[in-house]
Amino acid sequence: MSAIIRALNAFASGVQHLFKRRFTFRYPEQKLEFEGEGYLYDPKTQVGISGFKGRHLLHMDKCTGCQLCSLACENIAMAIEMVPIEGQWPRNKKSIFPQIDYGRCVFCGFCVDACPFYALFETNDYELCGYDRRSLVFTPKQLSIPPPKEKGVTVIFDEKKGEAHHG
Ligand code: SF4
Ligand code: SF4
Repeated sequence: MSAIIRALNAFASGVQHLFKRRFTFRYPEQKLEFEGEGYLYDPKTQVGISGFKGRHLLHMDKCTGCQLCSLACENIAMAIEMVPIEGQWPRNKKSIFPQIDYGRCVFCGFCVDACPFYALFETNDYELCGYDRRSLVFTPKQLSIPPPKEKGVTVIFDEKKGEAHHG
């Protein structure tokens, strides 16, 4: 008897959902729209500005090579290695910059919090797959390229109906 009731409940739930708006979208043609530019940290006020913790963005012109980001990561994931980059870097006498291994990074954001020079942030970029481990290591130059800005799909939460759908 209870099996019949459970089956009827499942059926009723299925019928109910026929009238709810579709939530899924066609990834990768459609992508999720995020609020803000990603996770930021203001060292002056020592306040983190909430946002998605995705691939990092490195402002090479602001980076002094102080290595604080790399030290912050040492006891977490050992994902940052300081590497030399050729060229003239007036603010970075040793010409060393962070390189991040996304095969290790756990996207905690501690390196962003540790940077005193507004040089390292996290972005909304989550598409970080590769065919081998090496392709997950992002050089400072790769990290300095902002992710492309694409119009994404906005998720709308309908509190009255207790459901979410996209526009
Ligand atoms: S976000 Fe990644 S690179 Fe930065 S401290 Fe955390 S694990 Fe290390
Ligand atoms: S990104 Fe920031 S914390 Fe890391 S070396 Fe550059 S200035 Fe220092």
